[in-house]
Amino acid sequence: MSKPFKAESRRLLDLMIHSIYTHKEIFLRELISNASDALDKLYFMSLNDEVKEVDRTGLSIRILVDKEARTLSIVDNGVGMTSEEMEDNLGTIAKSGSFDFKQMMDQAQKKDEVDIIGQFGVGFYSAFMVAKKVEVVSRKANTDVAFKFVSEGEEGYDIEEAQRDTVGTSVILTLNDDTEDEDYSQYLDDFKIQELVKKYSDYIRYPILMDVEEEEKKEDSEEVGTKLVEKTLNSRIPLWKRSKSDITKEDYNEFYKDKFEDYQDPQRVIHTNLEGSLSFDAMMFIPSHVPFNFYSADYEKGLQLYSRGVFILDKAKELIPDAFRFVKGLVDSPDLSLNISREMLQHDRQLKAIASRLEKKIKSELLGMLKTEREEYEKFWKNFGLQIKYGMYQNYGANRELLEDLLLFVSSHDNKLVSLEEYVARMKEDQKEIYFVSGETVEKCAAVPQSEWVREKGFEILYLTEDVDEFVLQILHTYKEKTFKSINQGELDIASTEEKEEIQKKSEESKDVLTKIKEVLGASVQDVRLSTRLKTHPVCLVSADGLSFEMEKVLSQMPDANPNLKAGRILEINAGHPLFEAIKEIHRHDPEKIDNYAKVLYNQALLIEGLPIDNPLEFSIQVSNLMIDASRFH
Ligand code: ADP
Ligand code: MG
Repeated sequence: MSKPFKAESRRLLDLMIHSIYTHKEIFLRELISNASDALDKLYFMSLNDEVKEVDRTGLSIRILVDKEARTLSIVDNGVGMTSEEMEDNLGTIAKSGSFDFKQMMDQAQKKDEVDIIGQFGVGFYSAFMVAKKVEVVSRKANTDVAFKFVSEGEEGYDIEEAQRDTVGTSVILTLNDDTEDEDYSQYLDDFKIQELVKKYSDYIRYPILMDVEEEEKKEDSEEVGTKLVEKTLNSRIPLWKRSKSDITKEDYNEFYKDKFEDYQDPQRVIHTNLEGSLSFDAMMFIPSHVPFNFYSADYEKGLQLYSRGVFILDKAKELIPDAFRFVKGLVDSPDLSLNISREMLQHDRQLKAIASRLEKKIKSELLGMLKTEREEYEKFWKNFGLQIKYGMYQNYGANRELLEDLLLFVSSHDNKLVSLEEYVARMKEDQKEIYFVSGETVEKCAAVPQSEWVREKGFEILYLTEDVDEFVLQILHTYKEKTFKSINQGELDIASTEEKEEIQKKSEESKDVLTKIKEVLGASVQDVRLSTRLKTHPVCLVSADGLSFEMEKVLSQMPDANPNLKAGRILEINAGHPLFEAIKEIHRHDPEKIDNYAKVLYNQALLIEGLPIDNPLEFSIQVSNLMIDASRFH
């Protein structure tokens, strides 16, 4: 009679087999991890003189395949189990001998010597996801009897005496028969096994050995035969566990290209670790080019997650904020409270704590680059600056502080990229606001009539050329307590007191003509006034506070744009321009012509601003009339 599994074990076993793990293939990882733990334990015992000295180089994990019998065996020469231990550890689900061992070891303060993986007491049962029968033959160190545990799943298990020549454990799986949906035979295939070991167990510190067929050319003949050779399937030491001083740039580059499937070296490597109440190793990379699918929906951000060198998850997206979604890499941490199975990662405190450390680390790396390797940073910015800007207005600006110092904009200061910090450092003593203007290109921004006088007065202007830019500034609202100010919106306070008084005086003198123009333009404009910002250009349009022209343009391109969503238009006229004198003349001597002048003036201002004019045909006729008029003087 078989013994039934203990306690709630049967239900748990069922749960295990059917729902805890998302991929059946992880059974191999779990069994290899157990073998690795068993080897660690034996080594630990030898350190404590509980067994005779163990040569650590002789410790290994061996994978054996018998295609005919459909068996896959994982064999170790580790600590082994007594029959009681088999009963306790394999007969009770959620009972982990390894966890107990680890606690004992923590007390002995020897945890640096070994790196026990197990702790949940469920991994072993993942074998039942692929096997109809599981046999464990084991002989405990310091004993000469061996035992065999046999189970065919939910029904229970038997333990009987068995034969094993050396100390250690063999786990022998008889694989399920293939079904329509499930190919179990693949786990007997050399290549598949090698692939799984590489994927999940590459950094197990003991060699994982398997005999693989290799082609062999027979002597004196053309025939190619095969022979079996023993191969170590894992690379054993994770790069991120090696001391930084031992890792060359090439090591990093090769590792990155191999692991993250890039053909180019990364621009930046960020290798960091933390030890203490929270400990982890992280290796992160900033690609040197934009991944081809970066701005598409199928690009997934995230870092690979390892726990004690064992692969858990490919894209742990919680580890990287959206603004930095271009970062690739991995994190290895023993601290994650992985719920029951390693797979079911809780949204837990440790994970959040790691994420916040990484976020700070990436930021400080980028800031350092900005401060000391300007060219490199600008290269980075060219690739991923847009993502940083998007990150800015995601989550309603929750990332303001994280990102504000990383932003670059082109400015009137040599038309080069500047950071806000640099802008503020250069601000004039009496300057209260950070000036900006939007346009399609830097050239267009520089040519905006409103910008001329501002520049001449020695104020720097940010040239915003991307759709998101104004939104970014709006989210930012202020930088170092300075507000942002569009040079073509609302009032602009750059004129001196005398200049203002002068314009004030002229406004009063020209009240009639300004009122008349406003009357002609009617509802198209909110106001017509003399400008305090124009230098050589006769006219410009500025928007009222609120919606800006740039936002109007961006919003009008949205799928169901509201056509009434318009920036308020204010027509500003340069009182110092001869055209204004001409208009006043006309107003005095030929008042009925003022209609034509006002409309042309307004349409010009619209065109300069890159806004559509209401009636191009009418505009053309008006300009033609003016030309005919002008010709009469000759
Ligand atoms: P965990 O590894 O989380 O402890 P498992 O279900 O994978 O849980 O294994 C349960 C226990 O069985 C282990 O803690 C260990 O005590 C024992 N065990 C499993 N495999 C082996 C092995 N190859 N050699 C020795 N002991 C083993
Ligand atoms: Mg385990």
